[in-house]
Amino acid sequence: MFTTTELSWQETALCAQAGPEFFFPAPGSSTREAKQLCGACEGRVACLEYALTNDERFGVWGGLSEQERLRLRRGSR
Ligand code: SF4
Repeated sequence: MFTTTELSWQETALCAQAGPEFFFPAPGSSTREAKQLCGACEGRVACLEYALTNDERFGVWGGLSEQERLRLRRGSR
């Protein structure tokens, strides 16, 4: 269970206004536009921490793709 504070970044999430296909593109599709939106999002750091903590495997979170988050996790071990 998450507290309100832990999920407060979702209230300012810019992706809430974009379609899910934007952040969960088909395999091989570009994630560039989603990452640009993340770059302007106030909750980017909290979003990325959430994705890493909860082992979110799919889509763009906090400006990083699945592969980039995987590399980050491997690099932090
Ligand atoms: S950082 Fe990106 S994925 Fe995370 S809430 Fe903001 S826009 Fe959405």
